[in-house]
Amino acid sequence: MALDSKVPSGPISDKWTNYKDHINLVNPANKRNIDIIVVGTGLAGGSAAATLAELGYNVKTFCFQDSPRRAHSIAAQGGINAAKNYQGDGDSTFRLFYDTIKGGDYRSREANVHRLAEVSTNIIDQCVMQGVPLAREYGGLLDNRSFGGTLVARTFYAKGQTGQQLLLGAYSAMNRQIGRGKIKSHTRHEMLDLVLVDGKARGIIARNLVTGEIERHSAHAVVIASGGYGNVFFLSTYAMGSNATAAWKIHKKGAFFANPCYTQIHPTCIPVSGDHQSKLTLMSESLRNDGRIWVPAKLEDAKAIREGKKKPADLSEADRDYYLERRYPSFGNLVPRDVASRAAKERCDAGFGVNKTGEAVYLDFAAAIQRYGKEQAYIKGLDSNDAKLIIKLGAAVIANKYGNLFQMYEKIVDEDPYTTPMMIYPAVHYTMGGTWVDYNLQTTIPGCFSIGESNFSDHGANRLGASALMQGLADGYFVLPYTIGDYLAPDIKTGTISTDLPEFVEAEKKVKAQIDQFMNNKGTHSVDYFHKKLGKIMWDKVGMARNAKGLTEAIEEIAVLREEFYKDVKVPGTADSFNQELEKAGRVADFLELGELFAKDALHRNESCGGHFREEYQSEEGEAQRDDENFAYVAAWEYKGKPSDAVLHKEPLVFENIKLVTRSYK
Ligand SMILES: Cc1cc2nc3c(=O)[nH]c(=O)nc-3n(C[C@H](O)[C@H](O)[C@H](O)COP(=O)(O)OP(=O)(O)OC[C@H]3O[C@@H](n4cnc5c(N)ncnc54)[C@H](O)[C@@H]3O)c2cc1C
Repeated sequence: MALDSKVPSGPISDKWTNYKDHINLVNPANKRNIDIIVVGTGLAGGSAAATLAELGYNVKTFCFQDSPRRAHSIAAQGGINAAKNYQGDGDSTFRLFYDTIKGGDYRSREANVHRLAEVSTNIIDQCVMQGVPLAREYGGLLDNRSFGGTLVARTFYAKGQTGQQLLLGAYSAMNRQIGRGKIKSHTRHEMLDLVLVDGKARGIIARNLVTGEIERHSAHAVVIASGGYGNVFFLSTYAMGSNATAAWKIHKKGAFFANPCYTQIHPTCIPVSGDHQSKLTLMSESLRNDGRIWVPAKLEDAKAIREGKKKPADLSEADRDYYLERRYPSFGNLVPRDVASRAAKERCDAGFGVNKTGEAVYLDFAAAIQRYGKEQAYIKGLDSNDAKLIIKLGAAVIANKYGNLFQMYEKIVDEDPYTTPMMIYPAVHYTMGGTWVDYNLQTTIPGCFSIGESNFSDHGANRLGASALMQGLADGYFVLPYTIGDYLAPDIKTGTISTDLPEFVEAEKKVKAQIDQFMNNKGTHSVDYFHKKLGKIMWDKVGMARNAKGLTEAIEEIAVLREEFYKDVKVPGTADSFNQELEKAGRVADFLELGELFAKDALHRNESCGGHFREEYQSEEGEAQRDDENFAYVAAWEYKGKPSDAVLHKEPLVFENIKLVTRSYK
């Protein structure tokens, strides 16, 4: 099947404007007769549902949490990008577009990224109008900070709770529509299959997670906003419930899955402490605005620190290696995440790690505390030679900026980051891959759309910090509500879709059969037992560094593990009640298929780009080596029964506005 990205022709700066002017619109009176299902009510789904309802459509939302406001989006800490140029530091739509394409290592679709940069400014206006309390400067203007991969400050934030505040904004907008009867919200419901009628997405099968009832829901279009699939690694910074089921089920029904191997490993997470863990914690990238990353310069010092014989403060400046500042003087600690993560791994692999496992580097605020302290003393006319006072004043500035993150770190690690550097290490954080979508955000199934982290669209092989919230809200507030009309316009005469159609009956039967299979299996191992095993294969062989041998082994091992899982998984409890083990079983079953496709995709991509680092393809300095001649395309996989049989389709990436060059942050 030929992939039609539907990208309009014309100059990049006019594409979106012209396109919107020629798109099919649905008469407002007819929108009353059109139903849209939105699966997921995080930032992408919540904003889309509220906007679609505001436009007049009937919306049905689904989420597995007890409230939309508990979506994974609530965890987002650091901020959201927008090309407002409030700092007057030379930001522009083009610069945000350029930074995002370069940050993604030239593996994203130009037209989508430019549109993202264009609508980024509207998002901030929208959220301010909703009353989202974005941080302000002393004079009352919105404040900004910097995130990785940029040389301007364009990140808007609400202390360390940006996702939570933005989600409350979207949730309020949703609630207004729930109150008007335009949104029917189904919480504690999990979508378990997509229903196609005459080749079009016409509904879903969902399980009521409280009663266990299997329900049929119909609509004229289905929007998937189910988030990312990083929990395929078991340990990650994702919310425990984040999963791939909705995206994987539509894949099995015909939606191509794009670039599954593009995963983001975030450099600043609290290191793994042992086998007992089921969750990793992110320390926001915003901390890299002020924190300096280092390891001891000498192996003997690193060893002494690991053995508890030395403390970081014992090491003089000369004995520290600020390796990011050394290797990348231009961007320093603010290089993109993939670059920072690999650099941390390189130092730790070389023996310079600073915790007991040898897998940690320092993130140190001492210099920032000094700098801010002196500035405050000067402003307040106090004694700048009083060392204790400087530290007190500087720590207060840091607390004001990052207080909740420091508190979180102290609670987890039991060390005071104001007085001793934080220890951090890379962890799985985001998935750039996802369902393939065209310019309208429609998958290869007519009437099935995918938005937010669940699609592949904007970040190429590496997402820049603070760009996920931007993309989710761009898709939800400003793109999908327009583009879906183009699809729905000819659908106004269809009338209500009956859930008695044989396609619904068939899909429901299959869902029930899988549940029965799990409940009757009577195996010997818990779901987590298999999930952990999968996670270990993924981290060891499909993680931060990959090679052909490891990937080939991973593909075989995952297929074997999947068989074992079906033979030997034990799901306690019953199917007609609240049963989280049963929920997990279905999700892990999907991860066990997705994991294999993930490895297959990584194996076929014989180059290194962004978060996809193949050890065979690196420069002498250890930097990623792309192969633009052979791999400047989106890899979109078609399901054919087994992950091993998946068929590859290529969407060539055409760069008309940005020159393809080797990425450099030096
Ligand atoms: C700790 C942390 C910090 C972050 N900080 C930032 C940041 O500062 N800036 C930034 O830009 N990004 C950040 N991110 C990334 C960002 O938070 C996410 O990429 C983004 O919130 C994803 O939004 P989403 O709406 O696409 O999906 P989610 O918020 O993951 O929402 C998914 C929704 O889908 C529902 N769902 C899933 N499957 C099903 C199913 N089968 N049936 C029914 N419902 C289903 C869920 O219930 C949920 O409502 C951070 C991520 C983490 C983990």
